[in-house]
Amino acid sequence: MLARRIPTILPPLSRDEAIDITKVYSAAGLSEGLASERPFRAPHHTVSTAALLGGGSVPRPGEISLAHHGVLFLDELPEFQRAALEALRQPLEDRDIVIGRVHATVRLPASFLLVASANPCPCGWSGSQVRTCTCSAGAVERYRGRMSGPLLDRIDLHVTVKPVALAELRRLEPGEASAVVRERVVAARARQAARLAPFGVRTNAEMSPAATRATCTLTAAAEEHLAQLGARRTGLSARAIDRIIKVARTVADLAGRDRIEQDDVTMAAGFRVLDCEPTVDPRGFTAAPAVAGVVVGA
Ligand SMILES: [Zn+2]
Repeated sequence: MLARRIPTILPPLSRDEAIDITKVYSAAGLSEGLASERPFRAPHHTVSTAALLGGGSVPRPGEISLAHHGVLFLDELPEFQRAALEALRQPLEDRDIVIGRVHATVRLPASFLLVASANPCPCGWSGSQVRTCTCSAGAVERYRGRMSGPLLDRIDLHVTVKPVALAELRRLEPGEASAVVRERVVAARARQAARLAPFGVRTNAEMSPAATRATCTLTAAAEEHLAQLGARRTGLSARAIDRIIKVARTVADLAGRDRIEQDDVTMAAGFRVLDCEPTVDPRGFTAAPAVAGVVVGA
């Protein structure tokens, strides 16, 4: 439900993006004219690696290409085949997928926003105040272990979602309208596109290390804070630190700031709850029954 709403806060499709999407859908035999909205793909966890990534004797686009310029939603991430999840690492880095055939290779576009959800354990009640988890410690460990470190490294925002009782839900004020949020996203994307034009990319998520160094100016306090984080949170890889900087850059863009401040770094690092911290259970989900919504692409 929450994941399905994400395309409504993304910038409207440009003509070039619409053409790109239409080409993929044509190649898959699914085209119904020029695309008018961003795709939202939600394959079931039983999906094969070939159907997820694409392939076949006449190569056909998989789910990751059908989600190009849109959202790929993987509900119950740990239930997906390990091989399929690990195979996502290359397209998440490169934003395309190379499918090898006997006589040739085919490169298909696959620049998508990954959104995934996971329960805290197989029964879903680990850490709950309401019900008792019936899973063994080993089963919980195995379940969480299916989301490998290298895959989690590539996921920028980890969000713990607590259950909301129906009565409480009815009392809640309606949130901000998607159209209002979208305006902020469009403004932040425009700042990114202008700043990154010399580097040939349009979004912070696409920045090369050189572009990151040249365009992510941190205040002295933010720089110091980042260094402390790296020293304290030993589970953070160099890749994770790099991605925290990119997310902090996006937080600053959303606020209309040129320089990255300490609060921007704090917020960006706060979204990496699944990375190890010495004082917390590794990959510890803090509340349950929880859905950890996770997003790639700042
Ligand atoms: Zn359980």
